[in-house]
Amino acid sequence: MTGIDPDRFRDTFETYSDIGRTDNDGLHRLTLSEADIRVREQLVGDLESVGVDVRIDEIGNIFGRREGTDPDAAPVLIGSHLDSQPYGGRFDGQLGVLCALETLRAFDEHDVEHRRPIELVNWTNEEGSRFKPALMGSGTFVGEFSVEETLARTDADGTTVKEALESAGYRGDAECGPREPIHSYLELHVEQGPILEEHGQSVAVVDGIYGMSWLEATIEGTSDHAGPSPMHSRRDALVAATDVVQGIRRLSNRYDDVVTTVGELTVEPGSINVIPSEVTFTADVRSYDDAIVAELAERVESELEAACAREGTEYELEELWRIEHTEFAKSVRTAACEAAEESGVSYRSMVGGAGHDANYLTEVTDAGMLFVPSVDGRTHNEDEFTEWEDVVAGANTFAETTRRLSQ
Ligand SMILES: [Zn+2]
Repeated sequence: MTGIDPDRFRDTFETYSDIGRTDNDGLHRLTLSEADIRVREQLVGDLESVGVDVRIDEIGNIFGRREGTDPDAAPVLIGSHLDSQPYGGRFDGQLGVLCALETLRAFDEHDVEHRRPIELVNWTNEEGSRFKPALMGSGTFVGEFSVEETLARTDADGTTVKEALESAGYRGDAECGPREPIHSYLELHVEQGPILEEHGQSVAVVDGIYGMSWLEATIEGTSDHAGPSPMHSRRDALVAATDVVQGIRRLSNRYDDVVTTVGELTVEPGSINVIPSEVTFTADVRSYDDAIVAELAERVESELEAACAREGTEYELEELWRIEHTEFAKSVRTAACEAAEESGVSYRSMVGGAGHDANYLTEVTDAGMLFVPSVDGRTHNEDEFTEWEDVVAGANTFAETTRRLSQ
């Protein structure tokens, strides 16, 4: 067994939570802000104190490597991200990095032998709040974005990632990308949904992540005066659009495990006494089954067609983005299930709805994830919370999974 030290882990969690803590006990720690620089310094110091080799790459991803007994074996990568959303929570991302740190400390303390090297990683700019896009550090690492492209990204003030890294002292020497084959990647994260809490369970072994499609629809009607225009002559773009919004909501009733959302809607000309001539809105549809995602996108179009026929309006539909589902590696899922059983933790398997660094890592290695519960399913705000006993159950499962992967 690899037993973590719950008291030490809690002290560490509080120390890190103080760096960028908000008045309401949340966390405000945007990428390469003053708080993010301080937490990076804390991490580097803590890694050095467990005697691991620290390496920082050219986009600021931080690695700490504990050698195994076989210097030629491919390493196991463990970690997450220390940046937060604006006025976000203390658990999203940070918990994953600190589970990895506590794992290294527990292995040190108990002289846990492992054949493979184990590398902790803190990915730069997972949240995408200061610099777009999200998942920047892991995306660049796997080659989804080039290093030049990433360094040239700017925040709202026009500061580039390169400038921010240089002034923070975190533009490292190491090349960004796998420098050797990687055996596996493991990340613990808060669920950000209600399923574990509803089932009274502490840990989820994540099967994979939903695929999704982002659509944008524009409906064209005719604007006219709200008073003299009789109802029968109207071509009201908003009336057609609201029918479609309702239809998109009802689509989720036709399938198991599908989520559909209309999150943006603009009305033109947007005046109290004018019939709307143009409405643009988005749809976000997700499922673990890629064929169902394709079907949902088609059904959104059928809804548009029917609503526009009723109202005498025209439409255009564009798919902005489509991403297939991610399936995590069986080897990692099996190791995680065995670890949860050995740790005596109540767990389930589930599919995740949101993207994480682990999604990108599937492109270069066998990746997998563990979730711990989010109280009331709340996340990306200061109320984000996980009960400490669930954190400890998750950390023990994480450490034992890491041990199994590193044999
Ligand atoms: Zn996160």
